[in-house]
Amino acid sequence: MARNKPLLLATFFTLFLFFSYILLPSTKSIPPPPPPHQTTTALTEPPPIPSSILTGSAIMPHLGNETLKAELGRAGWKLFHTTLARFPESPSLDERTALAHYLALFARLYPCGECAGHFQKLLVQYPPQTSGRVAASQWGCFVHNLVNQRLGKEVFDCMTVGEAYKCGCAEEDEKKKKEKEVIEPTGSSLEENLKGSGRKVEVVKEGLMNGG
Ligand SMILES: Cc1cc2nc3c(=O)[nH]c(=O)nc-3n(C[C@H](O)[C@H](O)[C@H](O)COP(=O)(O)OP(=O)(O)OC[C@H]3O[C@@H](n4cnc5c(N)ncnc54)[C@H](O)[C@@H]3O)c2cc1C
Repeated sequence: MARNKPLLLATFFTLFLFFSYILLPSTKSIPPPPPPHQTTTALTEPPPIPSSILTGSAIMPHLGNETLKAELGRAGWKLFHTTLARFPESPSLDERTALAHYLALFARLYPCGECAGHFQKLLVQYPPQTSGRVAASQWGCFVHNLVNQRLGKEVFDCMTVGEAYKCGCAEEDEKKKKEKEVIEPTGSSLEENLKGSGRKVEVVKEGLMNGG
């Protein structure tokens, strides 16, 4: 028995190593799974949109209900003109392309099928102006007027389109406000304001009114 002791120890040691390897969690690093939707080849450029997608025929069916059509129209024009009113003043090529594609798909997917068909023809005849905010807004007003004319509605004065659809751009509005303040300093009171304007005023304290 004493002679077999080293052999027995060696067997135990081997068995210990064998079971440790099998039972203990592996320390080998496993690469984490890729996040969902991520492919192994990174996309550097979005794939170009095939022209058939942009210019295919109107997708939505006929919209017979005139009340719905008018409600949809008012909401649709609001979105349309506001998008153009907030478009950059000096857009990049990428932004111009995005707008052109957006308008083509706006027309194709417009929820009133028969309106969409007419509007798509207008866009072919008068392609969207994307060089900047003013050009885009004026173009938008022009095409809306063509729809107005076809429907026997009044023509809108496009000189007022900038007033009707405000950009509401916080940063730009802030800058314009500051510029205005430099030109017209604002005092805390009416007196200060009038002093700032260089006008001479005499402030008379109101006495008690009759019966007051
Ligand atoms: C893309 C598109 C295509 C359409 N096609 C058809 C169609 O084929 N048949 C159909 O029956 N209806 C169509 N409509 C709906 C139609 O144009 C009107 O929206 C709807 O008849 C309600 O008219 P409205 O008189 O209330 O004023 P809207 O024409 O809806 O105008 C809403 C408001 O926009 C302002 N506005 C008017 N003209 C201009 C302009 N030129 N520029 C800027 N602002 C202006 C005015 O303040 C007006 O009150 C279409 C709408 C859209 C968005």
